[in-house]
Parts: sequence; C-alpha cells; structure tokens
Amino acid sequence: MKIGIIGGGLTGLVTAFRLGKRGHQVTIFEAEDKLGGLLATVSIGGERVEKFYHHIFTHDKEIIDLIEELKLSSKLKWHSVSNAVISKGNIYPFSSATDVLKFSQLTLLDRLSLGLLIYKASKIRHEKSLSQTSVKEWVTENAGTKVYELFFRPILLSKFGTEASLISAAWLVNKLKLRASTRKSIFGSEVLGYLDGGFVKITEKLASEIKKIGGKIFLKNQVSKISQSPDGGLRIFTNGKSHTFDRVIVTTSPEILLTLAKKLPPRYVNQLKKIQYKANICLLLQLQRKITPYYWMTITEEGSPFVAMIEHTNMISKQRYGTNLLYLTKYISHRDPLFLSTDDSIKNIFVNYLGKIVPDPPIVRVINDPAALIHKVGRQESLVVCAKPEFDDGSIKGADVGCA
Ligand SMILES: Cc1cc2nc3c(=O)[nH]c(=O)nc-3n(C[C@H](O)[C@H](O)[C@H](O)COP(=O)(O)OP(=O)(O)OC[C@H]3O[C@@H](n4cnc5c(N)ncnc54)[C@H](O)[C@@H]3O)c2cc1C
Repeated sequence: MKIGIIGGGLTGLVTAFRLGKRGHQVTIFEAEDKLGGLLATVSIGGERVEKFYHHIFTHDKEIIDLIEELKLSSKLKWHSVSNAVISKGNIYPFSSATDVLKFSQLTLLDRLSLGLLIYKASKIRHEKSLSQTSVKEWVTENAGTKVYELFFRPILLSKFGTEASLISAAWLVNKLKLRASTRKSIFGSEVLGYLDGGFVKITEKLASEIKKIGGKIFLKNQVSKISQSPDGGLRIFTNGKSHTFDRVIVTTSPEILLTLAKKLPPRYVNQLKKIQYKANICLLLQLQRKITPYYWMTITEEGSPFVAMIEHTNMISKQRYGTNLLYLTKYISHRDPLFLSTDDSIKNIFVNYLGKIVPDPPIVRVINDPAALIHKVGRQESLVVCAKPEFDDGSIKGADVGCA
C-alpha cells in the first residue's frame, strides 16, 4: 500500500518505520527543514541538545523498546537526579519521602497527609476512573484543604492558569505514579534516562532505517490540503504539487488536521474540536556555572512566569557541552498576553524573575527563542491523546484519515 505520512516528528518517523518494515511504501512530508518536531535540537559545544527539555522514565516501555530495536541501548544512560520545590522565596529539596516530611510550608500533620497521598497515588492501578474528579476534590478529600491550597493549587495555577480547576485527578495521579515509579524506594532519589548525544540519535536512526527500506522523506514540505482523488485514494497537496496515496496518516495536532481535511465526518470533527490545547514556552539558557544542585525545580510561587526550572547539566555532565544549561518553562494559553508578546519581552520577563530566585544569575546567553507549541489538557479523558475516527456518513469513503 502507498502511505503518505504528514509530520516528521517522533510519531511520523516511528509510523513510517513500522509500516515500511511491513512492506508498505511510505513517504513522510515534514514542514520544517529538519526532522524531530518537538524533539528538535540546537548544537552547543559540538553536542546536540533538545530545545524542549526531555528525559525518559524507567517504565517508558515503548521508547525503551524502540531504543533497543534501533540498537541504541548502549547510549541510554540512567541518571540519579534530585528535585526541589521553590516556594515563598525558598528552595526545598523534594526528592524523597524524607524531603516531603521536611517541607516546612505545611504543618507536620499536613506533611504526613501529603506523603500518604503520594503513596496512595502510586498504588492506584486505574487512574482513569478519576477522570471526572478534579484535583481539588481528590486532594481535599484525601489530604485536606491545606495540602491542596499550599501545595497543589499553586502548582496547578502556574502550570494550567485559568484551566487549573478543570484538571482531573487522573492527570495528577498519573504524574505522581510516574515520579514514584522512577525511584528504587520512597527514600531514594529519582532515576531518569537520557541518550548520550541526545534524543536526536533516535530521530537520525529512524530516518536512516526508513530510507534503507525504501521510504521517502520530504523536508520543507508543508501540507496544505488533503482531498479525495477520483480513483478512491487520497491526495496530499504540498509546495504546489499533489501526491496520491492509498492511505494518509496525519501526525500533527488534530487542530491542523481540521484545516487540512475539510470533509471529515461531523461527529469526528466535533470530537477533535473538544480537545483543548495549551501552548508551551521554553527558554534554554547558557550559564557560567550551576545555580542549584537540582535537576528539576517546581515553582509554586503564584507570580512566577515559569512553572519549572530544569538544570539539564545537573543530569548530564556539563563537559559534554562545555557549559551549564538551564531550561525555564511554562504551559500557557495561546490567548495569554504573555504568549502573544514578543520573544524579547518573554526573555526579559523570564530572566528578571530568575533573578528573584537566584540573585545575579550567571547567564551567558539565551540560546533559543521562546518556542511555542501545543499540548493537550483537559478534565475528561485527560490521558487519551486522540479522538477515534468514525466514518458513519461515508463522506471520505474508501480512505482513512485519522490520528496516529
Ligand atoms: C516542553 C516539553 C517537554 C517534553 N518533555 C518530554 C519528556 O521529557 N519525555 C517525553 O517522553 N516526552 C516529552 N515531551 C513530549 C514529546 O516531545 C512529544 O510527545 C513528541 O515529541 C511528540 O511527537 P509527535 O511526532 O507526535 O509530534 P511533533 O513532534 O509535534 O511532530 C509533528 C510534526 O508535524 C509537522 N507538521 C505540522 N504541520 C504540518 C504540515 N501541515 N505539513 C507537514 N508537516 C507538518 C511539525 O513540523 C512537526 O515536525 C515534551 C513535550 C514538551 C512540549
């Protein structure tokens, strides 16, 4: 079968690799001049590093299996990292159960409740059953109002802004489980995986494997339309040309899919429209020296423009890059004035606020411009990535157009 794949991020590349191996003729169309999508990198000191912070968890089975399949396992290294919470001007270590017990913003009783809540979350097997319960309802019921107000609410507000109250307990439990599963014991620190040379190694290997099995990859090919061809296949329009396929797989966000394919079944369109998105701003800073001993710092201050500080070179040795690297990141509505302001203004706001946390931060330069992207968030089915296509009105008979 001839299959056209729109998007050369990880999803598009893995899709092409798997289908190509099954004997299909695959072609990827990528809008940018590089593959990788959200895994795009910049080069620092001859080493590539992601524009958006990336690591993997010990239970991320699919990606670990893929790394093995691509014969990259020797490059996958596991690193013990430590975490902290920044609250009311103080940095609190937050890597283990002992740290939770020392979190002095809460009374001892509330700290115990918080510890028990984290433990309880790690034991929940089917968190989707909590998708109709809000974080506020679940935390208040299980650990009390103070734990919600002083600990989780500031995190939710800084991460989700106006949508904070919509976030389901399923999302929180999933996050707590992820974090718990990366520790050897509740007193141990977190272990995270990273590929020597960066995750770009996966992208590059996938691209070369796809080409080896006869697949084609077109960069700088932004698809503008998908329509039905008279012979029953589907046509992709890009750069003034059209290409015909038996099937088309769209790996972009459903929002983009809606602009590309105009004749999708109404019920499917409605499902796609229900998925709400958040943008993300992520700055990568080059520093003269490390500013904390922590890898991941969650900011719970309500006025903070960013929600997390990630000192990448506290996980990966700075010798690789010849410098220290720090990400500042925030999820944000794409209608938020901060998101709509200029790159320079975002940089100034982030860097000024960093100075409040760490006086005179030793910044050499801001490496990448604030990058924007979309990210799903929602109370319902918050762990489900895509709506399922339903072709009940036959409007695209003979072809599948859906989410990968
Ligand atoms: C800040 C941040 C941090 C993250 N950290 C982690 C992490 O630590 N661990 C982890 O597992 N995951 C992490 N993720 C998630 C991970 O990056 C994504 O799940 C993954 O990269 C998504 O890949 P994708 O191919 O589905 O989408 P994308 O990477 O978005 O790829 C879609 C591609 O489609 C292309 N495209 C769009 N429109 C068109 C068009 N019309 N025509 C042709 N091409 C088009 C885009 O240019 C892009 O290359 C993070 C995400 C963010 C935002």
